[in-house]
Amino acid sequence: MSRRPAPIDLDADVIVVGAGSAGAALAARLSEDPNLRVLLLEAGGPDRALELHVPAAFSKLFRGEYDWGYDTVPQPELEGRTVFWPRGKTLGGSSSLNAMMWVRGFAADYDGWADAAGPGWSWDALVPAFRRVERTEAPSDPTQGTDGAQPIEQQRDPRPHTAAFLAAARERGHQVTAPNRPDAQGFSQTAVTQHRGARSSTADAYLRPAARRANLRVVTSALVRRVTFDFSDEVPRATGVYVEIDGVTRLATARDEVVLAGGAVNTPQLLMLSGIGPAEHLAELGVPVLVDSPGVGANLQDHLVAGLAPAARGGTLFTAEHPSQLARYLATRRGMLTSNVAEAYGFVRTPVADRAGVPAGLPDIEIIFAPAPYVGEGLVPLPAEGITVGAILLRPHSRGTVRLASADPTEKPLIDPAYLSDPEGIDAETMRAGLMECERLVDTDALRTVTTGGWVQPDGGERMTAAERIELALRRYSHTLYHPVGTARMGADEGSVVDPDLRVRGVTGLRVADASVMPTIIRGHTNAPAIVIGEVAAERIAR
Ligand SMILES: Cc1cc2nc3c(=O)[nH]c(=O)nc-3n(C[C@H](O)[C@H](O)[C@H](O)COP(=O)(O)OP(=O)(O)OC[C@H]3O[C@@H](n4cnc5c(N)ncnc54)[C@H](O)[C@@H]3O)c2cc1C
Repeated sequence: MSRRPAPIDLDADVIVVGAGSAGAALAARLSEDPNLRVLLLEAGGPDRALELHVPAAFSKLFRGEYDWGYDTVPQPELEGRTVFWPRGKTLGGSSSLNAMMWVRGFAADYDGWADAAGPGWSWDALVPAFRRVERTEAPSDPTQGTDGAQPIEQQRDPRPHTAAFLAAARERGHQVTAPNRPDAQGFSQTAVTQHRGARSSTADAYLRPAARRANLRVVTSALVRRVTFDFSDEVPRATGVYVEIDGVTRLATARDEVVLAGGAVNTPQLLMLSGIGPAEHLAELGVPVLVDSPGVGANLQDHLVAGLAPAARGGTLFTAEHPSQLARYLATRRGMLTSNVAEAYGFVRTPVADRAGVPAGLPDIEIIFAPAPYVGEGLVPLPAEGITVGAILLRPHSRGTVRLASADPTEKPLIDPAYLSDPEGIDAETMRAGLMECERLVDTDALRTVTTGGWVQPDGGERMTAAERIELALRRYSHTLYHPVGTARMGADEGSVVDPDLRVRGVTGLRVADASVMPTIIRGHTNAPAIVIGEVAAERIAR
């Protein structure tokens, strides 16, 4: 006897597509108004697996059922490699499998958004939204919220190697400071989106506290295929979405509006599947063109990271999988498994910055530190005791694209971040300068107390010059820091995909609220601004 799926009410005032960093925050905030019926549709299943909650286990989720498991197209500047791009596919989205670093970036980055999309997106205008998000355990600045939704706590058990790294930064003349001041220069121990040693995703921070509200319906394993429109007015109006649940495609209807929060890969894919995108590209794939919007899927920016991994003395995360660590974690929520892996970071301004036109006082590289050799894009078990000191390109000049591979919503889109492709070569030059700073940090007395002189990556690095190690790190081993943004950029200009209120140009009743609206990538990590975008969207919709 076949079991019939329980009927689901798919009628709402607002439909939010995607329960990720932005979408979960948005849906929960909207549902604070008991008169608004909110439907949150999430392609992934519920966030049940232990690995989603145990901090150090996040890379175990890669290529599994909670990961969209993307790969880029081959990157000519990275020896023709494809690069693995995980994205979260469950409640909480990428906040459920990210590295939990809370790094807001610089006030100047948000002021750059205001240049593109008006004063409502300046740092000063966004501080109240940051404060609504943040529940900071140890605030170091009055702009940091202490009673918001998202716990931001101190690491419970950082490795001693992390203290050695921060001492190395001091030895190199860098400032070591508390994290997340709006002009945050210098190096810090990472503040993390954890609560008492467990991951706190936006499903934990926003959806669980809202779960009892009758006006918020969350449907998992619900893949949205495209937006539907009403054509009776002069401008097409979004009326709902086609969504696949239990293998059946159904119509979900929105009385007021549909908000896409599928992230920087899936949102442009959904827009294009709905006929909003570059007309020529859509026509090639046989998708009927509703709005010719060349900005959809363009302007892709990501943070490239290249790491050096010297061999280290014991006590790194190499032994985190020992059964005693799991027992300790389960009993006390302490020990190695509470590590978010990337335990410290710092901002530096390289000698290339002046030539590249980076405004005075701002960094062009972030240095990231892990008490583990993060190799093989996180897809392989840790091979040995080691540490990682890596350089992140904060403001790439290169721009990439997300394009449809086919008109089938279940087929992965084509992702081309075009790493290091800027014709002037500033991106590669900046990365080399950043990696040189990593070399110098590795060469300090402070870090030498925890390293052995050998190398995990590049293998045999002890027989190479610094320049050789740097070139290999950059071309052979670099990978994404998982921060794609910009593929449905907001702006006050007509060429932008969404207007400053996040409304999709060319139609009514449709907005985007996720990392894809960022016009430029921030000098920080993208979870914080993605959640803030969800908060701001809720405010604008309520208005
Ligand atoms: C491995 C990894 C590590 C990272 N580490 C950090 C870090 O330490 N600190 C930091 O600040 N940032 C980090 N990031 C980046 C950060 O998590 C993301 O920038 C942020 O979560 C993006 O939020 P979003 O709302 O734009 O998208 P997401 O959080 O990715 O949410 C999109 C949601 O939409 C759903 N969805 C997509 N398509 C559909 C569809 N068709 N139908 C229904 N649902 C759909 C997805 O399943 C997902 O749940 C990391 C990311 C990854 C992947």
